[in-house]
Amino acid sequence: MGDAPKPRLNAVWHRAHRMPTNPTLEQRIRWHLAHRDACACRPIPAKLLAIMKDRKLV
Ligand SMILES: [Zn+2]
Repeated sequence: MGDAPKPRLNAVWHRAHRMPTNPTLEQRIRWHLAHRDACACRPIPAKLLAIMKDRKLV
């Protein structure tokens, strides 16, 4: 993990929702949508966010 002074990491959620090793785009989208609601440790990557906006998911 990084060394941010106050990581807002929901460790319980992360343990229950592991990103697959080689996630498909769909898996990444679903993971980040769920992650956004559960944890604030990192933002949705810009490229992925653009795809999600195209799909009107965000
Ligand atoms: Zn997180």
